Amino acid sequence: MQTNPQTGDTNFPLNKMEALIFNVLAETAAKTATEIYVIGGFVRDLYLDRPSKDIDVVVLGNGISFAEKVGQKLKTNVAVFKNFGTAMLKHADLEVEFVGARKESYRANSRKPIVEDGTLEDDQLRRDFTINALAISLNQTDFGAVVDPFNGLEDLQNKLIRTPLDPVITFSDDPLRMMRAIRFATQLDFQIEQTAVDAIKSQKERIKIVSKERITDELNKIILAKKPSIGFNYLFDTGLLELIFPQMAKLYGVDIIKGRAHKDNFYHTLEVLDNICQTTDDLWLRWAAILHDIAKPATKRFEEGHGWTFHGHEDRGARMVPQIFAQLKLPLNEKMKFVQKLVLLHLRPIVLAQDIVTDSAVRRLLFEAGEDIDSLMLLCNADVTTKNEYKIKKYRNNFELVKQKLKDVEERDQLRNWQPPISGNDIMETFGLPAGKEVGVLKNAIREAILEGDITNSYQEAFNFMLQKAKELGLSPV
Ligand code: ATP
Repeated sequence: MQTNPQTGDTNFPLNKMEALIFNVLAETAAKTATEIYVIGGFVRDLYLDRPSKDIDVVVLGNGISFAEKVGQKLKTNVAVFKNFGTAMLKHADLEVEFVGARKESYRANSRKPIVEDGTLEDDQLRRDFTINALAISLNQTDFGAVVDPFNGLEDLQNKLIRTPLDPVITFSDDPLRMMRAIRFATQLDFQIEQTAVDAIKSQKERIKIVSKERITDELNKIILAKKPSIGFNYLFDTGLLELIFPQMAKLYGVDIIKGRAHKDNFYHTLEVLDNICQTTDDLWLRWAAILHDIAKPATKRFEEGHGWTFHGHEDRGARMVPQIFAQLKLPLNEKMKFVQKLVLLHLRPIVLAQDIVTDSAVRRLLFEAGEDIDSLMLLCNADVTTKNEYKIKKYRNNFELVKQKLKDVEERDQLRNWQPPISGNDIMETFGLPAGKEVGVLKNAIREAILEGDITNSYQEAFNFMLQKAKELGLSPV
């Protein structure tokens, strides 16, 4: 519990370090006769009992010189951003940011407002949502009082995202706020007020003035939430998804021909995504869930006597991954390769689980998935979205069987990070060959023999096999 040096207790459950910071801020404010408030996300999260490391302080006056005084007291360096009129200091694991109270006005072609000095109320009015506009006074007269001009506390209780101003203006001024509204609704499991949803629908085209990086930053926060489908449903229903990630919006819809329908791949994808979120926090595995069926619209066919098919969607989907990553400014590195690999292989364990599981099929899967086999199995488990209890049971049992087989084969053959027991160099040296086609033929033959289980994954057996194979090709050792 925080104790005010001047007036007594507040009701906020601050930890020790936060209480210390609040005290130093309050003392400095009293000494310098400056009016200050803690504002924004920290206050919101205090009420929601969410941990928060960023404390934003709004100063009625010069934020930078106030920050410097606090820094002297805490014996901490202050980083000053003169261009923005802000300053920041770190204390323990807390980041405290200081800014003078501002009034903002916007122009049509930019997210960047014209800024002038303002009152606390001006500063609260420029905030995106009522729950983000809450302020706590750190002033002597009313220390700990909550300043809540837009009923943000009530919205916290009602789990509602609402804008202080007309939402059409709020979203048009800074269209990133549309993404933020959806992101907060997802993270906090709140609803967006209907007029705000309608405002997003009418202002959606404004998203085009926001940089791709910022959009993707919010998208990733949605994906990292406990139940990302909340956000994707909002994105889809408001029409934003179509603009920022059209390939995903295309998954939506059901076609019916001759009374036969396929499942709606958009809602299926959301189910797979929510499922995988129960087993992993890994952003890239979550992305793999989003993209696993991304090529279904492009590969959809109705085959007479057979029904709907999506032949090759895993292969085509894997080929779509780099372009989607580039478009969304996601990293084009090994994270992308991981997602690509999982999209490519996502059907393999399911196929195994349907058939009789042969050792060689398991060995091939292990060879191709390498160290990502566990992630692949999580994705495949999440991909089972049938409501048919019998089918669920059958798949899950067969998955267990596949997992056991994977374990057995792994222990026996160590294929997870497979390196060929005979290298290309070994082959060249043994037969006095230059680098070329014959070396490749022998290498492939050895790999195939190991994967088929004709020989074990050992140097000696691979060497003997190589000699025999070379003889067939008319080669002899030098
Ligand atoms: P989180 O840390 O989870 O992103 P936060 O609310 O602390 O949540 P920040 O982006 O750090 O988010 O912003 C701090 C505060 O600044 C917000 O609570 C809000 O009051 C205000 N704010 C941030 N971005 C905007 C914006 N685009 N428009 C209006 N106010 C904003």
